[in-house]
Amino acid sequence: MSASIAPMGASPQAAPPNALVLDALIIGAGFSGLYQLHALRDRLGLAAQVLEAGDGVGGTWYWNRYPGARCDSESHSYAYYFSDDLLQEWTWSERYPGQAEILRYLNFVADRLDLKRDIRLGRRVTEARYDAAANLWRVRTANGEAYAATFLITAVGCLSSANIPDIPGLQDFAGRWYHTGQWPHEGVDFTGKRVGMIGTGSTGIQAAPVIAAAAAHLTVFQRTANYSIPARNAPLTDDFKQWARDNTAELRRIMHLTPNGHPFTIADRSAHDVSAEERQAIYQAAWDKGGLQFRAAFRDLLQDKAANDTASDFLRAKIREIVKDPETAAKLANIDHGFATKRPPIDTGYFETFNRDNVALVDVRATPIERITKAGIQTRDGQEYPLDIIVFATGFDAMTGSLLKLNIHGRDGLALREAWQAGPRTYLGLQVPGFPNLFTITGPGSPSVLCNMPVPIEQHVEWIAECIRHLRANGLTRIEAQPDAAERWVAHVNAAANATLLPQAGHSWYLGANVPGKPRVFMPYAGGMARYREVCAGIVERGYEGFKLTG
Ligand code: NAP
Repeated sequence: MSASIAPMGASPQAAPPNALVLDALIIGAGFSGLYQLHALRDRLGLAAQVLEAGDGVGGTWYWNRYPGARCDSESHSYAYYFSDDLLQEWTWSERYPGQAEILRYLNFVADRLDLKRDIRLGRRVTEARYDAAANLWRVRTANGEAYAATFLITAVGCLSSANIPDIPGLQDFAGRWYHTGQWPHEGVDFTGKRVGMIGTGSTGIQAAPVIAAAAAHLTVFQRTANYSIPARNAPLTDDFKQWARDNTAELRRIMHLTPNGHPFTIADRSAHDVSAEERQAIYQAAWDKGGLQFRAAFRDLLQDKAANDTASDFLRAKIREIVKDPETAAKLANIDHGFATKRPPIDTGYFETFNRDNVALVDVRATPIERITKAGIQTRDGQEYPLDIIVFATGFDAMTGSLLKLNIHGRDGLALREAWQAGPRTYLGLQVPGFPNLFTITGPGSPSVLCNMPVPIEQHVEWIAECIRHLRANGLTRIEAQPDAAERWVAHVNAAANATLLPQAGHSWYLGANVPGKPRVFMPYAGGMARYREVCAGIVERGYEGFKLTG
């Protein structure tokens, strides 16, 4: 326990007898939680602690240890930019950081900033209740501990609640099964095994080539065919490493300027501004370069359907070019949505994997999975695929799943689950009316998952820390988003989404469509990170417009 704990802003007697009373309690020790702890404890001097369900820090990168797990953001941008010291002291080894390296990085940061002494591992939060009389959040964990804090900050990530589809018969399966987001730490030995993998999102597309190389046989069960751009991962040269170290200020500037927080700008030309030959050459150059930058080839790929079609057609043609069996190629290229209207994956040899003799593709849109049997997976046409291992690369109950699991109750016992029955309603993705002093880092209604994540995380952490500093400096103890401000923000989030092609991919997890029964609401803010940053700053300048601050 930290020696720095001291009650503040509320009477410690009001907490349950065994509760630890803090200024701030942070849930989650990933990218967000680590920085939030540093910002509150070390910059503001608050008594703050982190509760983390895992047995180590790292969040997403602690849990997602599936084969091929790697970030799609380039490593020189996938880092904390709040500290020049950290930037200078850490060196990435590859163009895209792998899971193990990111986990080492986050441990390095936690050690370097001496954060671990205030992080309580193995604490899964089971309940958080606001006690209005004491102005305290009372939090309980699965191991029976109780905490109380003036401010409760969720840093639980947007993609951390595993979506395991309810396919009949799973309990009868005689083999082993795994969800990619809950991967065993000791790894999985695929040698000699017949593996079935369900899902062709970013995760499945990364995992398939690695599993295929190790297993006796891999069957990929594809429901929605997907685009993918080659990542073209490679070790970083010493020159590049030096360049990145020498240009941190400029990189930070660009990442703050661009809509998605990446270290590259979007071309200032329409796909219609150039001839068909020029367009082809531009796409080919972007394909050769690899990575998410492909999306930045033209400014209107996500706004104009005809522009988007040009990119989609180019990428479908690439699939047909790479995959030798025409029938398999046709299934892989039978993509029913525009490029990047669902989160675009990047890959290392994904489509090439289907040229291997030990890999098969099953189109479960045409022949849906009927049940899991003792021996494997059975599809509606009566075909049974015998398997030793099933890998669920089936994604997450994104953005709201992990928040709802916390079992949060605000003023007058209002359950977050009830408040969000028709979908998440937030102000800026930072606060929810009825839940005073609760902040949600990269919550629904903020740019979050549409960005290179450390950028929105840093902005939220800093906004929250500044807000708490402001409250304390002014003798205030409570902040709550106002319902009319949240209504306006939700309308703005919808309008921003509708100004793009993003909501047109009807089965995307951005809309919650991957989880049966989840309300279909476009959850992230599509207006761009730079614009969002300005909106948040303006609200502060106007005296926390839309929030009610009380003492
Ligand atoms: P995802 O994008 O939601 O993909 C899940 C896949 O499983 C989809 O192909 C989905 O099909 C399929 N699926 C789900 N339920 C199914 C069912 N009952 N039957 C058959 N198929 C089913 O999940 P993800 O691949 O884990 O990626 C989630 C997000 O995490 C990404 O979009 C990205 O933001 C992040 N991520 C990032 C990286 C990276 O940076 N490298 C890597 C992995 C993940 P439908 O499309 O038809 O629903």
